[in-house]
Parts: sequence; structure tokens; C-alpha cells
Amino acid sequence: MSKVNTVLGTIPTAELGVVAVHEHVGYGMPGSELDTQWWKTPEERYAETVPKLRAFHEHGGGTFVDATGICNGRDVDYYKSLSAKTGVHIVACTGFVGGDTALPHFARASVDYLTRQFAHEITVGIGDTGSRAGVIKVGVSRGGRMTELDKTIYRAGARAAVATGVPILTHLAIDPEPAVAIFREEGLPLDRVLFGHADDGLNADQTPHDWIVSQGGRLGFDTFGYETELEDPPFWARARKERLDHFLDLVAKGYLPRLLVSADANCSPLGWPGVKGHTVNYLFEDLVPDLRERGVDEATITTLLVDNPADFLTIKA
Ligand SMILES: [Zn+2]
Repeated sequence: MSKVNTVLGTIPTAELGVVAVHEHVGYGMPGSELDTQWWKTPEERYAETVPKLRAFHEHGGGTFVDATGICNGRDVDYYKSLSAKTGVHIVACTGFVGGDTALPHFARASVDYLTRQFAHEITVGIGDTGSRAGVIKVGVSRGGRMTELDKTIYRAGARAAVATGVPILTHLAIDPEPAVAIFREEGLPLDRVLFGHADDGLNADQTPHDWIVSQGGRLGFDTFGYETELEDPPFWARARKERLDHFLDLVAKGYLPRLLVSADANCSPLGWPGVKGHTVNYLFEDLVPDLRERGVDEATITTLLVDNPADFLTIKA
């Protein structure tokens, strides 16, 4: 039976339902929890987060994949409680958003150490939470080129993915050539890798979309909703129509089986104000209506929100 690790246990893939494949309960830079300007009580975080997950559930959302790295505020006991309270399956990740968010303990570790760490979190559990990670996060550090530490983490991620069958989700799809080389050297099929943020305003131009697909990789249009039309758009925002045109262009090229969509929103950001007016529910409130208006049929929408993430997330051991 195909299965996926969620924070409340391993479940049949068929139970995932509609999936938001790249989201955050709360993301912050390492150390932001020490910034007293931004301290939030657990009650405040709960009060901000629960209504968003409840709305997600009411819209028909089944599964929320939290792509917050080990050092970026990942809090698995909290995710368990949110999942139990709202009925939304939450998938937690192991790994790091990028080398530049790995704290020194991990930044100085060997490939072997990191491989064991990731594999342990996937097969045994994350600390004493009893929850197993369902996806591995790796990423490109700020600067646009993979650093040596990024490559170490990618290699450890690849080895853990091969050993456990759990897929890899990347932060950024720029500079993918060294990543693909590492995945090939480690024997990881490229359809086990979602190259994320292929659509954001800062990186879309530098991302070789056709090449990634030609190599067998998956493309994440996972920053839907970070739009220049927002009241206070972030620096990675992009015009709504431009992103949608780009996306539909890739669908027209036949890339549908390789495409995944998400909003990369924060339910309750850590150490920064977040982006006002943007939540995971963009998927239901804006993206799906936009797709319908542009003539995308229901079968295609189901492929994007149910079938493709199910295939990606299923443990392929
Ligand atoms: Zn993210």
C-alpha cells in the first residue's frame, strides 16, 4: 500500500486529498526566536494559525506540507496539536532550507552525519515526538549559486531519499545543474525531486524550466499569491497575470505531470511580520477560480492538487 508520513502517523496516500505541497506553519530565520521584538506566546500563534487551517479544511483541503527546515522554527509537537484540532493532515520535513540557515552544529557536520540525521527523522522519528518526516528540504543559499555546504546537504538529502523513499523539495530551482549532478551520482530518480520556487518574481527568469523537466525533475509553482498587486508586496512578488501566463504556458507544453502548485504562505511567521493578505487559502480563493476562468478543466485541477502531490509524496522504498 502506498503511504505517506504525517505528524500524526503514517497514512495511506489515498487519504491525502487536496494537498498544499509547500507551506509553513511558521518560518523564521535561525535566532529569530531570541528577538524579543517578535516574541509571540503559544496562544497568539495558535490564534493566528487555527482559523487558517480550519478554512483550508472547509475549502476541501486535506494535507498541508510544512517545508520549514530544522533550524527555521520547525515545531513538530505544535504541528501535531494543530493537526488534531483542525483535521488537516500535516507533513513535516527534515533537512534545511539552505546551507545559510543551517546552524553551526549542522553546518560543520559531514555528509554521513547529515544522512543519518535525515534518515533517522524519516524512519524512527523527530526527537521524541513520535512523528516521522515525510519530505526532505534542501536549498540554495542566498547569492544564487550553490555553496559547498548546500552541496553537502543536497548529497545527504539524496542519500537519505534513496535509503528511505521519501522525496526531496528544494528551496529555489536556480543553479540546478550541480544539484542534478549530485542526484544522479547518488542514484536518485529526478521525479523524486520537486524544484521549488520556480515561479517567484526574483528567480523565475533565472530558472531553466525546460531543462529541469527534460532531466525528469518536477517544477514547483509554489509561491502563488505573492503578487505585486498585494498592498505591501514582498521583494519576491510577481504580477498575477504574468505568473499565471507562465504556468499555463508550461501546461500547454505538456508539463502537467511534472507541475506542483502551492502558496508558500506562513500561518504565523516567526521573527518577521509576514506578508499581509496572503495565506494557504489563496489556492482555493484565487488560484482555482483563475484556472477555471482561463479554461482549465476540473481533471487538470485535480491532477495539480491531488494526483501529482500524491505521487510525489508517496514513500517509494
Ligand atoms: Zn517555503
